[in-house]
Amino acid sequence: MNYAGIGYDLHRLVEGRKLMIGGIDVPFDKGSQGHSDGDVLCHAICDALLGAAGLGDIGTHFPDTDPKWKGASSLVFLEHIRNLLASRRFRLVHVDAVVICERPKLGPHFPAMRAALAKALGITSDQINLKAKTNEGVDAVGRGEAIAAHAIATLSQH
Ligand SMILES: [Zn+2]
Repeated sequence: MNYAGIGYDLHRLVEGRKLMIGGIDVPFDKGSQGHSDGDVLCHAICDALLGAAGLGDIGTHFPDTDPKWKGASSLVFLEHIRNLLASRRFRLVHVDAVVICERPKLGPHFPAMRAALAKALGITSDQINLKAKTNEGVDAVGRGEAIAAHAIATLSQH
């Protein structure tokens, strides 16, 4: 049996923060605001995985009121979810995601992101597909005030 889950996330872009996307520190003059490292792609993938497994959402598992997660690497969230899935006999088949921002260009960073995500999830890079879009200058994302991501995950269960 296969299961699909969807995930969405958005973070404000502010000065004085790192821009962590897919576990990679992307050089840029702004970064994601957030309790953890603000990794919009990791968070969207977390929600997609939890959704496919019927396990709720990222806020339930990693509440932003918990000091344990302050500044935490979001790759740790993925590793935690990977173990949850394994304990329920789910196998991760594929992840597809789109990251939306006006700048910087993300394509050149995708190979490193896919490798980091694959390592955290215990799968291979070719099981992760990443896409980059701009918001055509429209809305907060288009004005460079925020970054967003959508993800879909497919799991199988035996
Ligand atoms: Zn987030």
